Amino acid sequence: MKRKKIVVLGGGTAGWLTALMVQRHITDKNAAIDVVVIESSKIPTIGVGEGTTGLFSILLKQLGLNEFEFLRETNATIKLGIRHRDWKKTGSYYDGPIDNPHFSENLPKSVQTTDFLYRFAISEGNKLSDLHLFQYLMNENKVHFVEKEGELLLLGSALSAYHFDNHLVAKYLKKKSKGVSVIDTKISSVKRNNQTGNIEALIDESGHAIEGDFFFDCSGFHRKLIGQELGVKWKSYQDTLPVNRAMTFSLSHENNEISPFTQAWAQKNGWMWQIPTYDRIGAGYVYDDRFTTPDKAQQEIEQTLGKSIQPLADIKINSGRIEQTWKSNCLAIGLSSSFMEPLEATSIHSTIVMVQLFLRDNFNEKLDFSAAEIEQYNSLVARKVDDYRDFINMHYVSERRDSEFWRAVSQDYILDTTKERLKLWSKEMPSISHFPPLLSGLAHIETQLYYPVLDGLGLLDANLARQELINDPKLRSMARQYSSFLSHDNREACNAAYGHKAFLDKLHA
Ligand SMILES: Cc1cc2nc3c(=O)[nH]c(=O)nc-3n(C[C@H](O)[C@H](O)[C@H](O)COP(=O)(O)OP(=O)(O)OC[C@H]3O[C@@H](n4cnc5c(N)ncnc54)[C@H](O)[C@@H]3O)c2cc1C
Repeated sequence: MKRKKIVVLGGGTAGWLTALMVQRHITDKNAAIDVVVIESSKIPTIGVGEGTTGLFSILLKQLGLNEFEFLRETNATIKLGIRHRDWKKTGSYYDGPIDNPHFSENLPKSVQTTDFLYRFAISEGNKLSDLHLFQYLMNENKVHFVEKEGELLLLGSALSAYHFDNHLVAKYLKKKSKGVSVIDTKISSVKRNNQTGNIEALIDESGHAIEGDFFFDCSGFHRKLIGQELGVKWKSYQDTLPVNRAMTFSLSHENNEISPFTQAWAQKNGWMWQIPTYDRIGAGYVYDDRFTTPDKAQQEIEQTLGKSIQPLADIKINSGRIEQTWKSNCLAIGLSSSFMEPLEATSIHSTIVMVQLFLRDNFNEKLDFSAAEIEQYNSLVARKVDDYRDFINMHYVSERRDSEFWRAVSQDYILDTTKERLKLWSKEMPSISHFPPLLSGLAHIETQLYYPVLDGLGLLDANLARQELINDPKLRSMARQYSSFLSHDNREACNAAYGHKAFLDKLHA
C-alpha cells in the first residue's frame, strides 16, 4: 500500500503538539503514514507567557518526556492554581487550586467525587480551597516536591500544570518529534479536488506543491486552510465574552520569589494576567476597547501596579470558535479552531483534547473518514468549546458596578445558560450529575472547576449545603472525618515541601 501523508500547517504550540501526538500514535500502530510540518519563519507564532492545565503534565508522562528536562528547556514554572483578585468586588480574592482532593490516599475508592467535601466546607463556612494541598503550597510559594537523599521527589500523587514560554515549548516539542519532517515555507494557496472538494496539496509562495492525504490547520489566527481556503465561518462569542483587546508586557520577579500560580486580576475594563516563567513574569491586560483606549488601558495598569510598563503588543482578539472545525480532509486545531480570553487556560488544553479525541475515536490507517463521524466530531468539539465559554462567562457574575464596563457586563453579557445554572444551584448544590460526561473519559469541565469559582464569587448557599447534608447524616459524618484528615495531611505535607524558586534553581543548576 502506498504510504499516506499527513500535513500539519503551522509550527506553533498547536502544530507541534499535534505533530508529536500523531507521530507517536502512528508509530504505536505501525501505520504507513508520514508526518510533515510546514511552518514559516516569516510568520511569527503567538508568544506570551502561557499557563496550562494539569492535562499538559499528564501528556508529558504519556509521551515519555522528562518533566525536569521540559521545565528547564522551556523556562517553565509550576502552576498549582489560579488566584482571582477583585472579581467578586474590589479587595476580595479567591483561589482555584487544581489538585483534586478526591485523589487523596485517605479517601475511600467508593467515593466518586469531591462534591460532598465541598458541600461540607460551604455548610461550615470554611474555605473550599483548604481541602487542597495546592492551596497550602500556593500560600507559601512552595511546590509539591520534597528532597530525599539529594533527589527531588513528587509529594503525593497530584500533578501540577505549568507556566512557560510558548516559543521555547514549540522548539522543545519540535526537538522531540523524531521522524516528523519540517519544511520552512509560506503557503499561499491550495489545490483542491474538483469532485470531492478535498485538499490535494498546499502551494507555497514559489509555486511548489506539497501534497498530502490529510491536513491539520494549525496556522493560528490566520486560519489559512479552514477559514481562508475552505471558507468555514467564525462564530464569535463577543456578545457574551466582552473583552476584545490584549496588551502584553513583562514584569520582573520581586523579593527573590516565584509564585506557583497564575494571577487573574479584575480591572475596571477587563482583567490582567500575570504568569511567572523562570526568568520573568509574562503579563497582559485583556480589556474592552469600547470603554477605554490603549493609552488609558496602559495608564490603568501602571496605576494598579504602581510602576510604568513597556507594552510588547496590543492586539485585537475575537473570542469564538470556527463553525466546523473539521471539513473535508482538513481538521483545524489550536487558535485556528477556537480562542477565548485566557482566564482558565483553556486553549492549549483544548488542543490536546482535540488531538486525543481524533486519535481515540477517528484515526485509521487509510485516513478515510465518513461524513457521519466528521459531523459527530464537530458537534462534540463545538459543545466542548461552548462549555468553556459558559464557564468563563460564570466568572463575570460579579457584584462590581464601579465602571461602565462592569455595569454593561452585569446587564448585557451574562448568558441565559449561566442564569439557568445559578437558578438550579439555588435549589440544589452543584453535583456531578449536572455535567454529563461529554467526551467519555477525556478531560472536560465539571464540578471540580465550578465549585471554587462559584464559592469565590459568593454564589453558593451555605443553608442549602447544610440542609442537603443533614438529609444524609452518613455522608455528613464522612465529610467531617475526611475534611479533617485532609487539612491535617495537607499542613504536614506543606511543611515538608520545597520552595518554588529553590526548586527551579536546583533544576537549572
Ligand atoms: C493574549 C493571549 C494569551 C494567551 N494565553 C494563554 C494561556 O495562558 N493558556 C493557554 O492555554 N493559551 C493561551 N493562549 C493561546 C495560545 O497562545 C495558543 O493556544 C497556542 O500558542 C497555540 O497557538 P497556535 O499554534 O494555534 O498558533 P501560532 O502560535 O500563531 O502558530 C501559527 C503557526 O502557523 C504558521 N503559519 C501561519 N500561516 C502560515 C502560512 N500561510 N504558511 C506557513 N505557515 C503559516 C506560523 O508560522 C506559525 O508557525 C493565549 C493567546 C493569546 C493571544
